[in-house]
Amino acid sequence: MGHPRPFVGGNWKMNTDLASAVELAGNVAAGCSPFLERVDVAVFPPFPYLQAVGRTLGHDGVMLGAQDVFDQPRGAFTGEVGTEMLLDLNVGMVLIGHSERRHVIGEPDDLVNRKLRAALVAGLSATLCVGETMEQRKAGGTKPVNVGQLRAGLRGVPKEQMRQVTIAYEPVWAIGTGLTATPQDAETVHKVLRETLRDLYDEPIAESTRIQYGGSVSANNAEALFAQPDIDGFLVGGASLDADSFAAIVRAAADHG
Ligand code: PEP
Repeated sequence: MGHPRPFVGGNWKMNTDLASAVELAGNVAAGCSPFLERVDVAVFPPFPYLQAVGRTLGHDGVMLGAQDVFDQPRGAFTGEVGTEMLLDLNVGMVLIGHSERRHVIGEPDDLVNRKLRAALVAGLSATLCVGETMEQRKAGGTKPVNVGQLRAGLRGVPKEQMRQVTIAYEPVWAIGTGLTATPQDAETVHKVLRETLRDLYDEPIAESTRIQYGGSVSANNAEALFAQPDIDGFLVGGASLDADSFAAIVRAAADHG
């Protein structure tokens, strides 16, 4: 079976300021517009710039996403942001369990799972990120770590909500390092993740759920990665801060999707 419709996301992390976020959003919208018939594209700016970026993007083109969301709707949770607040700003999707949240901030699997379920119940789409560290890879833990994070992240998520879910395989050692998994190494993990979806749900869900690769994706390596049968798009960090590079990655998915 061919790829599901490709999906490319740009994770801006804690970068840009108001003016440069708006400028980048305008350039991304213009650069990606020729490909939007064939590829879903989203950007994930920092929280404070969501509204301004959303206004720049408009409603029918590049989608607006947030980098995180809390699992509680409102209340005494200083510093957190809830689902209704995001929906208020026309945010349609969120990243959940990004490796920087897991490994820098220290988010455990059960919080990742609660955030994912809260996002889905609120009607948001969500990208659940999984990935092994270099130590885990060297110790032979690539498969159990990724399968474990996927199973823990999806605990209690019903089949009917899976159409809102994208999975991102992001080996921690490849994020922001310039190191990329080889297409074959990435494909091996993507295949295992798809088998796990088959096991947890069924064949149609395994085939239709998009599994993105993330980790130093660039215009130079996107085509070879996307040529793998189980890589359905990308989650892009560094290269998403440059509209031309990001559009070239989107184009690779559009041309080969
Ligand atoms: C990311 O932030 O999800 C990511 C993959 O970053 P980079 O492309 O910079 O490795």
